[in-house]
Amino acid sequence: MTAAAPWPEGCASATCFTFDLDGEEVWRVDEEGARRPGVRSLGAYEAAVALPLILELLERHRVTATFFVPGREAERQPAAVESILAAGHEVGHHGHTHRSPASLDPDEEEDELAAGLAALARVGATPTGYRAPNWDLSERSVGLVAAAGLRYSSNLMNDIRPFLHAGTEVIELPVHWLLDDAPYFWFSGDNFERCLRSAAEAGQVIDEERAGLAALGGLAMLTFHPQLIGRPGRLPLLERLIADAVADPTVWVATAGAVAEFARREQDPAPREVVV
Ligand SMILES: [Zn+2]
Repeated sequence: MTAAAPWPEGCASATCFTFDLDGEEVWRVDEEGARRPGVRSLGAYEAAVALPLILELLERHRVTATFFVPGREAERQPAAVESILAAGHEVGHHGHTHRSPASLDPDEEEDELAAGLAALARVGATPTGYRAPNWDLSERSVGLVAAAGLRYSSNLMNDIRPFLHAGTEVIELPVHWLLDDAPYFWFSGDNFERCLRSAAEAGQVIDEERAGLAALGGLAMLTFHPQLIGRPGRLPLLERLIADAVADPTVWVATAGAVAEFARREQDPAPREVVV
C-alpha cells in the first residue's frame, strides 16, 4: 500500500461517481443478443429513461461525474453523450465495442482504441481516461493507452490509492467490485442462477467499503451502470450515496480526470510495474 496521501481542501479521502454507459452495446457483443430486441431493450432503457434521471440527480446535488462510453454506443446515442457533455460532466473511453481487451489480438485492440476515440470525438468528447470493457485489460493495454495520449486508466484492483504505471505517464485509479453496482444488479433472462439483490443490500456493502476507504485515506471509485442503478427502485440509493458524500466535509468529490491530475501533481505516486 502506498503512503497516506493528502487530498484537496483538507479532505481525508476522495470519491468519484462514475457511470459506464454500456447501453445496447454490452448486449450486442453477443451475436445472439444483437438479434433479440428484448435483450437489447435492457440497454436502450439507459438513454431513454435512466440517463436523464441521473443527470437531473447529479445537477440537483451539484456533483460532476465521469461517464465512460463505448464508441459504438456514442454513435448509436449521440444525443445522450451530448447531454452528458452539456451538463459539464467528463466523458471517458470505454472501448469501441464492449469486448474485453484481453479477448482481442494486438491489431484488434489497437483498432478498438482508435475507433473509440474517433467515435467520441465525433460527438465532441475528448477523453483523457480509459476504462476497459469489463475492466479486463490485456498485457498490452496500458502501453496502448499511453501511446494514444490518454492520461489515466481506471481498471485495476491492486491498491486503494492512485499510482503511476511504471515507464508511462498513465495514472491508475483503482476500482473494486465492492463499489460496482453490477455484482448486485446485473441480470438477464438467460441466467436465472444470478440473483438480483435489493438496493438496501447493495448500499450496505458499498457503505462498508467506502467507510473503510475513508478511514485509510483512500479513493472510493464508485462505478455504476445507468441501466442498472437507473431503475426506479434503485435511484434512491444513488441519491443517498451522492448526498452522503456531498454532506461529508472530509470527502473530496471529483471527476476521475480531476483525481488523476491531482494525484499526478500533488501526491507524487510511486511507479508500479503491473502489466509486463
Ligand atoms: Zn461497460
